[in-house]
Formats: sequence, structure tokens, C-alpha cells
Amino acid sequence: MSKGMVYLVGAGPGASDLVTVRGKELIKQCDVLVYDYLVYNELLTWTKPGCIKAYVGKRSGFHSKPQEEIEKLLIDYAQEGLMVVRLKGGDPFIFGRGGEEADALLKSGITFEIIPGVTASVGTAAYLGIPLTHRNDSSAVVLVTGHEDPQKTETVIDWEKYAKLGATLCIYMGVTKIDKISEQLLRAGMSPKTPVAIVRWATLPTQKSCIGKLGTISKTVVDADLKPPAMIIVGDVVKDAPRHSWFEKKPLFGKRVAITRTRRQSSELMHRLHQLGAEVLELPLIKVSSAVDEEVKEEVFAELGSYDWIVFSSPNGVRFFFDAFFDEFKDVRSLGFLRIAAVGPSTANEINKLHLDVEVLPEKHTGAELGQALIDTGSIEHAKVLIVKGNQGSDDLIKLLEEKRAIVDRIEVYKTEATDLSQNAAAEKFRKLGAHGITFTSGSTVRSFVKQAKALQRAKDAEIPKTFSIGPVTSKVMKEMHVPLIKEAKESTLDGLVEAIVEEFS
Ligand code: SAH
Repeated sequence: MSKGMVYLVGAGPGASDLVTVRGKELIKQCDVLVYDYLVYNELLTWTKPGCIKAYVGKRSGFHSKPQEEIEKLLIDYAQEGLMVVRLKGGDPFIFGRGGEEADALLKSGITFEIIPGVTASVGTAAYLGIPLTHRNDSSAVVLVTGHEDPQKTETVIDWEKYAKLGATLCIYMGVTKIDKISEQLLRAGMSPKTPVAIVRWATLPTQKSCIGKLGTISKTVVDADLKPPAMIIVGDVVKDAPRHSWFEKKPLFGKRVAITRTRRQSSELMHRLHQLGAEVLELPLIKVSSAVDEEVKEEVFAELGSYDWIVFSSPNGVRFFFDAFFDEFKDVRSLGFLRIAAVGPSTANEINKLHLDVEVLPEKHTGAELGQALIDTGSIEHAKVLIVKGNQGSDDLIKLLEEKRAIVDRIEVYKTEATDLSQNAAAEKFRKLGAHGITFTSGSTVRSFVKQAKALQRAKDAEIPKTFSIGPVTSKVMKEMHVPLIKEAKESTLDGLVEAIVEEFS
């Protein structure tokens, strides 16, 4: 049996792109992932299929597995010969009991490696624009815990000692005790004017911060309603925060945007909105899957060479058509001399990926416009046209072409279905808090949104989302389904959609 091993990996402060390259590599490879509360969920999706994921708690005030049990778990899995990643928020050796876990592994003769992470204080400082050290203001940094045994009345942390160092103090796990901590720092002689920053969920789109003065900071925290997990930074360097702040100035910071694409398609839109600072709720309202009628496929593929035009009305159509095509044919030249038309730029983009050129792309991205653009080529009368589509969508295009005496065949290559949202975490948040915006990127997402209205019923005081449509086809369906429209993208692409959202919120 191969020898098991444990990697103590720092997950960084929250944002999934702040994990080290080595950390991400190990998460992707491991057989077992043992993680605790502070780790942001996205990291958990990187694991390979079949990876055992064990949640071991560690949220203050909530039940969590006792430390000995966590250590036993790591040892047991490693002794089974498995590759174990013990993922810890921030850095494993900063207030993470990583030292104890390493000791336990050593005692059991299990090999381990330690992969550092960006600790919360360093992440927080960067995302708030606070230089932890500064030539003029601070030449030392202290990382200290504000968490003490609630059973003890006496404080064991020597705040007086830290107050006298003239260093920047980064206090972990201290926000619920800020009154006592600030009182003792003041008593030890720190100026009540010393600036203090408190930040919750630093580096995430849900980051919330407040800046105050040591003398009045407990009240500031109460007023701002800042709860754990939060980092406290005390020291003159904090005065730079308002000037250096960059993360909270992003155009969509503080905005929660729900997106309603299918899972397979949502990552690009999600990534762009994230980069602009938005919190993204991914509501996978529809599921798109391959659904090709074998008989139709055989007939169409047998006659491919006889068509004049092939017309695609969605990126999914392109993907599923060519999946089926390449199952059957080895060579793209089996398409023959077909002329290619696409309804819009996203569809055309998908076709271009195959190094195929699109001859007709209407200015407005609707079926009717596409039909007209084809007719305008003067080649439609008696032409054989193959239309590639899903199980939904309108027949405007077909009607128009047939009126002009084209011979139209259609092949459905995918189907769109509603998904179950009752257990979905993003849907839960949407029901509870609502969102500032919601995007629709196809008629089918609108229809499913209406169909799933019950599963998405918002609480009374939840935010009412502004609606964004990717283009006229989607907007038309919104109108038909009585979904009010706030803004339509000027260009029917993801770029256009993102631009419309930024314009509305800035
Ligand atoms: N090993 C971790 C610290 C674990 S202790 C590290 O190196 O960062 C947990 C404390 O870290 C929390 O109570 C909070 O004070 C701080 N913390 C962790 N992530 C944080 C975040 N994203 N924003 C603010 N504070 C955070």
C-alpha cells in the first residue's frame, strides 16, 4: 500500500484567487480534504471526483469537532494510504492550531508538508490599503489573538506590553471583546486618537469595514454592526486606508447580482462581475443537455453536402451540434461548402472557435432580423437551409424563410429544463436577502425564472433586484412573461451586459 501523507495547507483569507499555486495544486490532487469554517466554498469545488470532503467546524460559538478528533481523522486517513489536505483559513501556523496537528502527525510517524497561506491580517491590510509597516509610522507588526477563555474572568493577554511597543497591532478573533481590549490599550497609554480599522470577511465581495478611533471604537463597531469573523488593526498606519482603499471602490462593490445562466455557461459572467467587485449569486435556473433525435440526425448528416446554409440560433446550438458532428465525422471538411449564419456575436464566437467563418450576422440579434439578413443575400429562394436549435425558441425565422420559398429543415440538438432550487445555497440567499440586480441571458432563463417563482420567493425586506437583459430576444420574452425590464445591453454580448450593469450602478 502506498504511504499516506498529510499537507497542512493555508487557504488564504477568503478570496479563492489568493490561495498559493502549490495549495491549489494539492487541493486538486488530494484523496481527502479536511476543512473548516473560514474556507470560502469555491475552493471545495476544485477537488477531483471521488475526493472525500470532511467538514470539521471551527466557527466560534458553534459546535465543532474537538481538536483530538480532527487529528485522529488526519492520521486515520493517512494510515489508509491516502493523500490528505488539511485546509485551514489564512496560514496554517497562525492561530490555526497547525503546530499541534504537525506534532500529532509526527508522533504517529506520518509524513507531512506545510504550505503557507496569506494570513488574515496581511490579506485584510492589502484589501483595505493599510501598509502594515511604514518607514515613518511603524517598524513592527504584532499578530495577537483577542480570544480568551470565556470561563476566565482575568485576562491573560498582556495588552499593556503590546500597547507600549509602538507597533501595528493585528488582533484576530477580538471583535466581540473590542470594548475590553480598547479599554486596556488606552489604560496602558495608547492615544484615544489612534486610528483603528475593523474588517469582516476581508477580501470577499461581502467585505465590510469601519474605521474609527481607539477612544470610541466600541461604539463604532456597534453602530456598524460588525460581527465575527473580523480583523482589528490598530496603529497610525491605518490613517492611510481611506487614501489607499481600492477594493471597496470597485464599480460593483457592495452589489449582489444574481445570474441565471446554466452552470456550464455561468463562469465567464461570474468571473467578470467578481472582478468588478460584485457578489455573485449563481441561480442555475435551467439545465441544458444534449438531446439529438437519432433519426433526424442520421437524415441530416447523410445529406449535409446538399444544404446551402446552416443557421445557428444560440451558442449551445453550436456546441451540441458540433459534439454530435465530431462523434460522426473525423474531419471538419465533412461539412462541405455550407454557408454559415449566426443570430448574434456570442453564437458567432462559438463558431469561430472551430476556425469556421460566419457569413451572415444580423445587426439586431433576433430570429426575424436573421431571416431578413439571409433573405438580403438574395440566395434564399429554393435554397436548402438547416436550422440548428434547442427544444425551445421561436419559429419567426423558419416562417420568414419558408415564405421566401426556402426548403427548411431543422435539427434540435439540446434541451432546456428547469432545475431544483430548494436546496441550492445561492437560491437560499436570494430568498432571504434578495439582490441588487439580476441578469437574463436568454428567453429560456426568463421562462424558468417565472416558472421557479415560488422557489425564489423573496422575504419581505429583501432587496428587489433590477433586471438586466442581454438583448432584444430576451427582452421580448420578459415582456411576454410580465417581467419588468430595467436595462437592456446595447450589444448582445456578455461585455454588453456587464457594461449595462456597471452603467446602472455607478
Ligand atoms: N489561520 C488563520 C486565522 C484563524 S483564527 C489566518 O492565518 O488568518 C480566525 C480569525 O481570523 C477570525 O476570527 C478573524 O479574526 C480572522 N479572519 C480570518 N479570515 C478573515 C477575513 N476574511 N476577514 C477578517 N478576519 C478574518
